[in-house]
Amino acid sequence: MVIKPKVRGFICTNAHPSGCAASVEEQIKYVKNQGPIENGPKNVLVIGCSTGYGLASRIVSAFGAGSKTLGVCFEKEPSERKTGTAGWYNTAAFHKEAEKAGLYYNTINGDAFSHQIKADVIDLIKKDLGQVDLVIYSLASPRRTDPDTGETYISSLKPVGDTYTTKTFDTSKQIVHEITLEPATEDEINNTVKVMGGEDWELWMKALNEAGVLAENAKTTAYTYIGKELTWPIYGHATIGKAKEDLDRASAAINENYKNINLKAYVTSLKAVVTQASSAIPVMPLYISLMYQVMKDEGCHEGVIEQIDGLFRKLLLTENPVTDEVNRLRMDTVETRDEIQDKIKAIWPKVTTENFPELGDYAGYHEDFLKLFGFAFDSVDYDQDVSPLADW
Ligand code: NAD
Repeated sequence: MVIKPKVRGFICTNAHPSGCAASVEEQIKYVKNQGPIENGPKNVLVIGCSTGYGLASRIVSAFGAGSKTLGVCFEKEPSERKTGTAGWYNTAAFHKEAEKAGLYYNTINGDAFSHQIKADVIDLIKKDLGQVDLVIYSLASPRRTDPDTGETYISSLKPVGDTYTTKTFDTSKQIVHEITLEPATEDEINNTVKVMGGEDWELWMKALNEAGVLAENAKTTAYTYIGKELTWPIYGHATIGKAKEDLDRASAAINENYKNINLKAYVTSLKAVVTQASSAIPVMPLYISLMYQVMKDEGCHEGVIEQIDGLFRKLLLTENPVTDEVNRLRMDTVETRDEIQDKIKAIWPKVTTENFPELGDYAGYHEDFLKLFGFAFDSVDYDQDVSPLADW
């Protein structure tokens, strides 16, 4: 079939297999160009391995450090008539490249929040790897079913405390307009913490440790976004920020609970980038477009692969990494610098639908958005008939 993007609101409902492969290849090339990572982890488990920051973590582990990687994701398989999800094609492309490079790979597709998937992962580690020495927790999900009670929780993207009125960019109508976001109820806050907080990360570490598959001196990290004043009302100080605060609690608990094997847990704060998860958050497309413009002008723009490659080389894999006051690894220090934030703040009140393409990097945002689904790659002929099928 000929596959063209079908964008609906903040999501693209199809994906292009060759474009997703091009995206994976580009990221691999970037990592290889940075040179090998010495003394990296041997066996890496990436939970949320198929897109965004998790995929980049898998690529840096495999093609930077030469690690064996086991991934967990939740993706839809293609059929003759319907494309698979981008994460499906990314994983197929990653497997192909890992195979060519002689690197071990395996991926489990299913609900990472469930007991079953944790058990399946543990069985596979025992069978193929023995133990893992790095666990990346990079899930982004709008819902979670508690594996003990069977209750399903839905997360909210709402301010906490007061109603918040701000500008946003509607990616489907292509207009800059004001929105008023009503504050979350107590239940909505608690449910968001249940979905995106640290509980499931702790359950993973507990299950892995009890099964004896966590190596001595292993490391683990979960990803967060902290941001600054412009995004605090809808992110840092909002429902999702409350969930992310819970990661700090979980990180401290994990460090305390697994001292006996000298496990080191960190929350890592990464910069805002275009991913399927961030596209769904109100205000973020506008903020990211303006931030991209400012950071590109300043020559300090970074995408997912640059961020994760830097994280692994400069912080995560080093002996005693520099942390902030709550033991977090910080890869967001350029984005949150006052000079950068002040420039974004100066543009913010001036942006209208008409001048947005000039003042912000909407073109860059939109291209990155299409690339998430395998579109907008120069190397791909999108008029060509391609099979939507791709095996893992
Ligand atoms: P993403 O949407 O690109 O990736 C989410 C991953 O989670 C995918 O691999 C998906 O398959 C997997 N997943 C979702 N639900 C699952 C389930 N139930 N079971 C198994 N796998 C499941 O998201 P992302 O933006 O890369 O986010 C990853 C992490 O990075 C999140 O914690 C996010 O908050 C954080 N982060 C993102 C940004 C940003 O700007 N995008 C910035 C800083 C931190």
